[in-house]
Amino acid sequence: MEHEFANPLTRQLVIGIDIDNTISQSHPVIWKEFKKEFKGRVLFSESPDFYHLEKYTTASLSEVEVFFDRLERDEEFILSYPSYKGANLILNKWILEGHKLHYITARPAHSRVSTLSWLKKHEFPTENVSLDLHDRGRDTDAVSFKARIVKSLKIDLMIEDSLEIAQGLPIPSLLINHPWNQHAKLPPRITRVSDWKEIEKLVLKLSYSSKSAER
Ligand SMILES: [Mg+2]
Repeated sequence: MEHEFANPLTRQLVIGIDIDNTISQSHPVIWKEFKKEFKGRVLFSESPDFYHLEKYTTASLSEVEVFFDRLERDEEFILSYPSYKGANLILNKWILEGHKLHYITARPAHSRVSTLSWLKKHEFPTENVSLDLHDRGRDTDAVSFKARIVKSLKIDLMIEDSLEIAQGLPIPSLLINHPWNQHAKLPPRITRVSDWKEIEKLVLKLSYSSKSAER
């Protein structure tokens, strides 16, 4: 389909977009709630990690799992996550330019409704965009889930904050800088980025260079 604003010199890309800590600033909100929940049992005042909060408390792993399960089912709590400034404008612009967008999140499948409400609340595109959530009965872990989806949707580029996921995908990724994804030598297919402005520039450059590669 030709789009009104599609540039004939660029190729339309199929872009996979992670949600938590990529377009949604989930970590600061969850960490604040974590400190409240495990008051007196939290070992550090700051958490440089998003994925293994059990390391930061004397509470048991199962208590931490129960905590996360509660949060994942709490629509009001999910709706309280701020978004990264400007990300919604860039995604809406990409749609007008003819790029195909797919949200791919490791949130559990039962978070679909609250995730869609969050996307709408923050004015992210939800029309002509797919949303895949992690069906934990089908894929054992987030890496194999996302690897299966990027393959089936023929994603050209993934935008992620998880080092483990970017490393586990067979396609190029833009990895948004966070304390938890530092200190690794990245393969050439993974590009570290600091913010959405930089992502916007790199996607534009990539859409030009892939078009010239086609000629
Ligand atoms: Mg994420």
